[in-house]
Amino acid sequence: KIEDVSTPRRTKEIIQRHGFSFKKSLGQNFLIDQNILSKIVSAAQLDQTKGALEIGPGIGALTQKLAEVAGKVTAVEIDQRLIPILGEVLEPSPHVQVIHGDVLKLDLAELFKEQFGEVSGVSVVANLPYYVTTPIIMKLLEEHLPLENIVVMIQKEVAERMAASPGGKEFGSLSIAVQYYCEPELVCVVPHTVFIPQPNVDSAVIRLKVRTQPAVQVEDEAFFFEVVQASFAQRRKTIANNLKSRFFAKEGRERLEQYLTEADIVSTRRAETLSLEEFGRLSDILLKAGL
Ligand code: SAM
Repeated sequence: KIEDVSTPRRTKEIIQRHGFSFKKSLGQNFLIDQNILSKIVSAAQLDQTKGALEIGPGIGALTQKLAEVAGKVTAVEIDQRLIPILGEVLEPSPHVQVIHGDVLKLDLAELFKEQFGEVSGVSVVANLPYYVTTPIIMKLLEEHLPLENIVVMIQKEVAERMAASPGGKEFGSLSIAVQYYCEPELVCVVPHTVFIPQPNVDSAVIRLKVRTQPAVQVEDEAFFFEVVQASFAQRRKTIANNLKSRFFAKEGRERLEQYLTEADIVSTRRAETLSLEEFGRLSDILLKAGL
């Protein structure tokens, strides 16, 4: 069996031997903790019939663990300097492939066809670069990729916002976007000490179980998200006032209040108290009204 990449000693040795210097701008914080790696991998519920897409393999700490359990592992890394290191660290194997590229620019539907034709399901498993967490997750969700789970290490506050329920101050448009497509579950909170270099923020592992159907059925998905965005535009304002700011050119305040009543939503409520079902009802009513 090939040696673990993720022990602090071996990580430092690899980095030094290759003269690698961390780029903060690429969110490079590498994992050096076996226990956390195991928690991430087991949350993804992989087996030999499943595939894993890793975003940002770094020097391969997680990639190596994924390769032990999944039938296929494809890892996308933006930093050219890491490609030869990954080639050295990962045992040559037809079921593990490293692609040099920016995940935000790749055609992921095409990549899925090329890489995961043989497996019965695919999960994204990653210790994400924090500077692009939300764009990456939104890209995965909005492109309706055939995913089972997204298991990611992210900034703790972002994980809490994704998993938040209506009523609290963490609940916002990110919670709604994520929960529309997935069922979120916080796996664990992670201390800074499991990374080199250590990030300045707290981290957490979250599992997003991708739903087979969105959480609410709406007439027009894009419009639903437009209504959500508008409703949260100014958090201390009521839903009626936020909708008025967004739609005032088309509709008077009184009519907007009627639509809220029709959706069974008291107009003085704030957006953070509305459930996904309520946003769904509201957006269908506003759409029908021609807004
Ligand atoms: N998986 C490794 C680990 O856990 O030790 C490294 C995780 S590190 C937090 C994030 C990795 O993502 C870095 O290797 C970085 O170069 C890579 N990365 C940053 N932006 C990226 C992008 N847009 N596309 C693909 N990889 C990216």
